[in-house]
Amino acid sequence: MHDLISQQRFSKTASHGRQQVLLVDDQPLSLAFAAAEIEDICHPIQAHSGEQALQLAASEQPDLILLDAHMPGMSGFEVCRRLKQDPRTAHIAVIFLTVLDEEVNEEQGLRLGAIDYIAKPFSPAILRARVRNHLLIQRQRMQLQRLAQFDGLTGLANRRSFDQVLSVEWQRLIKLQEPLGLLMIDVDAFKPFNDHYGHQAGDQVLEQVATAINRQMQRKHDLASRYGGEEFACILPHADQNGASIIAEGIRDAVQDLQIPHRASTVAPWVTVSIGAKSIVPNVSSSPKRLIAEADHYLYEAKNKGRNQVIAE
Ligand code: GH3
Ligand code: MG
Ligand code: MG
Repeated sequence: MHDLISQQRFSKTASHGRQQVLLVDDQPLSLAFAAAEIEDICHPIQAHSGEQALQLAASEQPDLILLDAHMPGMSGFEVCRRLKQDPRTAHIAVIFLTVLDEEVNEEQGLRLGAIDYIAKPFSPAILRARVRNHLLIQRQRMQLQRLAQFDGLTGLANRRSFDQVLSVEWQRLIKLQEPLGLLMIDVDAFKPFNDHYGHQAGDQVLEQVATAINRQMQRKHDLASRYGGEEFACILPHADQNGASIIAEGIRDAVQDLQIPHRASTVAPWVTVSIGAKSIVPNVSSSPKRLIAEADHYLYEAKNKGRNQVIAE
């Protein structure tokens, strides 16, 4: 899955249900005290220095960071500045925990991108309430982002994410002068399927086909998306024409191997897909739009030649 949108789908929260809070303080007692106060509303993890905090924030992707401003070595302010500069951690909410309670410090922390400020010594009830509030906001934010980026039925990236990732990859691969493969996939005889088995059965087919397609996405930057209706599109960075064709054949096989019965199809006794595959090395005189049009053209040819097949250049 592409990193532009992967944070959502594979967030730790989604995988084990509890939100993680990273506590950063150079004083072990302080850490233990704060952790004990919040451990029933989240999963606290601890860092004893700024350096360790930066590492854990990037690797663990916590939902919230409680950051002591006053630490020997790298100060909390510096940690916050670096967190906000790093694309892997810029989105993580930071609350400063500090004895430096002068207004000027508070302003400095907020200006660096922190969302809140709690002065030490803090009341345990206030700490818990603020952490709980911020975790709730964070959950809602993730939910909205999921809705904005993923298709509700299949769970694949939606059209908006497809457009965004294609344009980012286009620019990246122009610089690298590396190929970009694109697959346009369309379910064969899907209208007859709906007519014969009903719309809900049709929805289930789309889910199964989406999962089969997504399983063929093996590289880090590959992206399978629902392009619209019963059409899917895959972005395959670094795949040349041969690579793109192989993946397309893999998808065609995988869908056919699902052996979803389709009595109303004239193509096969089960659900099949047709695929257009095109790869080019992006350059300034072409465009993502043209690449889509070309892959679409091959898809059209695959339909004309009898469906359940891949057409590639
Ligand atoms: P072809 O082999 O040429 O692709 O024929 P087709 O019947 O698949 O193509 P057509 O474009 O005529 O019909 C597409 C059908 O897909 C019609 C539409 O109702 C159905 N469809 C689109 N989105 C959904 C959906 O979300 N759920 C269901 N169940 N059906 C959908
Ligand atoms: Mg269609
Ligand atoms: Mg179709």
